[in-house]
Amino acid sequence: MASEVRVRIAPSPTGDPHVGTAYIALFNRCFARQQGGKFVLRIEDTDRARSTPESERAIFASLRWLGLDYDEGPDVGGPFGPYRQSERSELYRQHADILLERGAAYRCFCTPERLSALREQQRAAKLDPRYDRLCLSLPRGEAGRRAAAGEPHVVRLRIPDGETAYDDRLRGHITFQNFTIDDQVLLKSDGFPTYHLANVVDDHLMQITHVCRAEEWITSTPKHVLLYQAFGWQMPAFIHMPLLRNADRSKISKRKNPTSLDWYRAEGYLPEALLNFLALMGFSMPDEREVFTIEEMTEAFSWDRVKTSGPVFDLAKLEWLNGVYIRSLSGDALAARLATANARAAAADPAYLRAIVPLIQERIKKLSEFDPWTEFFFTEPLSYDPALLVPKKATQEEALAVLDAAAAALAEASDWTAPALEAIGKALCEGRNWKVGNAFMTLRVAVTSRTASPPLFECMAVLGRERSLARLRRAAGLLR
Ligand code: GLU
Repeated sequence: MASEVRVRIAPSPTGDPHVGTAYIALFNRCFARQQGGKFVLRIEDTDRARSTPESERAIFASLRWLGLDYDEGPDVGGPFGPYRQSERSELYRQHADILLERGAAYRCFCTPERLSALREQQRAAKLDPRYDRLCLSLPRGEAGRRAAAGEPHVVRLRIPDGETAYDDRLRGHITFQNFTIDDQVLLKSDGFPTYHLANVVDDHLMQITHVCRAEEWITSTPKHVLLYQAFGWQMPAFIHMPLLRNADRSKISKRKNPTSLDWYRAEGYLPEALLNFLALMGFSMPDEREVFTIEEMTEAFSWDRVKTSGPVFDLAKLEWLNGVYIRSLSGDALAARLATANARAAAADPAYLRAIVPLIQERIKKLSEFDPWTEFFFTEPLSYDPALLVPKKATQEEALAVLDAAAAALAEASDWTAPALEAIGKALCEGRNWKVGNAFMTLRVAVTSRTASPPLFECMAVLGRERSLARLRRAAGLLR
């Protein structure tokens, strides 16, 4: 077999695209790129009731948004397709037949009623629920005849006696006692495979060399090992990544954290920040620095740098990281990101948007914060409570005088730039003994409708002379 590294992610297209898929994809892709290998996307849609085409499309779109491009997959093709399990049913049936012939699997005709009565009894006796192997004693010829006659049945893996072990690249040698493993259903009565059979057959046929997936699959792995052994196939290396965890260290869940990649995109997280954050959930750079690119991670990547106890998933940390990435963009780049992520930015005149960007770049942590910070640049007339124009320690007359005097003085400005406007504003206060803080608060509310905003005179510079003066005059009118 070729020695080229081949890895895969194998998400099930049910529900929203999951942040855990991106996390596992990131590690697989880093390893593949570093090794000069291939990264494959396989869609595991054997659960016909829960799989949807929308969910599949959302997986493609979110991986593309993140820049986690794959070399082979349902929508890009490749030499080992089809890459959608629903299109590979015949292969699974053929492989189930191989196991039946070898006696490594058997047909089970037990009805759902019998199985649930059995589980009930076991529960009452405080035993782990498991199949009691009634059908294992059926002569093979008889089972074959009943199946040929169309009698509904499943195919089960016959778990042999003894123990099953494998080496996990992160966790060392793991041994399972076989008596703890149920005779797993491999083919369901509708002829569709279960996860275990389809997963192993595909990993083998797609020549996957390393199976890197989440920790929750550790207990499935002995069943997979037994399948590899029954087929007589070489096993891939197994790597079980630490789970993404809620603050209480339970597996990440919707109730405690957003899990949909669509949410992260809509909130205005940058793909590179989210990837950096997900990397930190399992990986550390040799110099322990927290901000790094996926290219830098790829270069430094080693399974030895992956720890099995990841930190908890902390949105505040992601927000911080996102702010770091936003600040590191050029003004042009941030304007371009905003225009793809935000409807108002997309509709704005590009030069106007570009002028606004420096006023918010230091202040926003997510692209979605563009709206609340910049609404006043796009709204006419502003709406606010006129009482805000009068600072706590000032009177209405004073505020009115500030607005009138500022409108008159600024109208004469020869140079409509922030430093020039600020000089005019300060001179005005000095000449009349006004408190700068109070006077500027009045002007700020008049121009931005807010008591906290980007720097006042920079806002005026971007808004332009006409609009700024009109806002000052309108505010004066509201106070009169
Ligand atoms: N279909 C499984 C999932 O949804 C794949 C697990 C694996 O990588 O083997 O995560």
